[in-house]
Amino acid sequence: MTLQVINPATAQSLAELHQAGVEETDRAVARAAAAFPRWRALAPNDRIRLLRRLASLVEEHGEELARLETRNVGKPISDSRAEVGMVADVFHFYAGAIDKHHGQTIPVAGGVDMTFHEPLGVVGLIVPWNFPLNISSWKLGPSLACGNTVVLKPAELTPMSALRLAELALDAGIPEGVFNVVVGPGRVVGERLVEHPDVSKISFTGSTEVGARVMRGAAATVKRVSLELGGKSASVVFADADIEKAAAAAPGAVFGNAGQDCCARSRVLVQRSAYDAFVTQLVEAVARVKVGDPEKEDTEMGPLISEQHRETVSSFVEGTPLFVGNAPDGPGFWYPCTVIEASNTDRVAQEEVFGPVLAVIPFEDEAEAVRIANDTPYGLSGSVWTRDGARALRVVRAIDTGVISVNANTSVRVATPFGGFKQSGFGRELGMQAMDGYSEVKNVFLATDS
Ligand code: NAD
Repeated sequence: MTLQVINPATAQSLAELHQAGVEETDRAVARAAAAFPRWRALAPNDRIRLLRRLASLVEEHGEELARLETRNVGKPISDSRAEVGMVADVFHFYAGAIDKHHGQTIPVAGGVDMTFHEPLGVVGLIVPWNFPLNISSWKLGPSLACGNTVVLKPAELTPMSALRLAELALDAGIPEGVFNVVVGPGRVVGERLVEHPDVSKISFTGSTEVGARVMRGAAATVKRVSLELGGKSASVVFADADIEKAAAAAPGAVFGNAGQDCCARSRVLVQRSAYDAFVTQLVEAVARVKVGDPEKEDTEMGPLISEQHRETVSSFVEGTPLFVGNAPDGPGFWYPCTVIEASNTDRVAQEEVFGPVLAVIPFEDEAEAVRIANDTPYGLSGSVWTRDGARALRVVRAIDTGVISVNANTSVRVATPFGGFKQSGFGRELGMQAMDGYSEVKNVFLATDS
């Protein structure tokens, strides 16, 4: 069975790949299992050097990787470059984490008690199509640093950068079998990884629907699971905020990656007394977003990933939007920036659109803002805009979300933990917390009584 990989900006074929099935998945797991004893036993300094070399190769091949990601995902080249930069930083960070992920010694009677962080074995990494290379690195860095070997399954739509990264890993000197990539359908390769008895953990990023399925499948072998799932994050703008700054920042927070971002602030809640001023400035800022060829240097938004996804996104837009921007007619899977006035009970405010559609919702006071922000099944990211520091702290604590920023729309940093509350999943990527997610604690007691 072959897989046609498509450039979403042109709808032209980018590559034709062989799709793996269950047998090839089993072979990849067997290779990873065979490589595990040597990889876990490697001296920390050797593993550090290999991960650092991989980071350097990613930097050296940065432009090539960024072009590949842009052609496969349709994201603007400036975004791809920034993401590849983060991939290198992630490998540098986890190379540095290897000899800093210490156990403890704990005072007990009759001897010495100590803890070790042990690798899990073979880890299955299942990745979505919106940030293929970046999310792969968030899982690979800590997995390999902890001494695990991995089988990575990229999304069917976007396998190109993961395959290139695996070649670079071999060039870096990471032994064969440590980092395997299997390209194939989620229902075949993904499910096989989830049920395989020799896979110790599944680290999954994708939709909440498939995440729930992964969790069910993993139960049979009591596999460890971490799930990074969907989001419906809110940016809460109080009337005392710097309205100009909040309005100027809002488009980037939802139209970045054409809205195909689990952290997209796809709801903006605005205090009624500042509502009209905010909406006027927001629409002006949205009108300035440059939509077009993702390989052009100044493009800010490219196409959606597929025709099927464009149909899903357009199904959310009902009635007359506040604003609809321009987008190329085609070929390619284009969709314009769209701003809608909504009530939080509307489908567009409750479900993850995963496209360039922003719902603006008014609120009266702090209590109502918190209630609306929390009124979705998700809890991944969010922002609070205010000049009142005490209010900022009250509101960020009251919103049920894994990541939130004040007077900014950022979500992800290499050194800080990232993950969700509620149906946005559990487990944390990035930061030192991720090292705990890819290792087990072993407790050892050594009797010292003579
Ligand atoms: P998806 O759930 O359809 O697919 C994700 C991956 O799972 C793909 O590799 C797919 O092939 C695989 N898969 C599909 N069915 C499977 C099965 N039955 N068993 C095992 N694996 C299976 O998601 P998508 O459409 O690729 O990505 C979009 C979703 O990902 C959005 O909901 C988005 O919010 C989410 N996402 C979350 C984060 C986060 O960190 N929280 C980051 C990026 C994307």
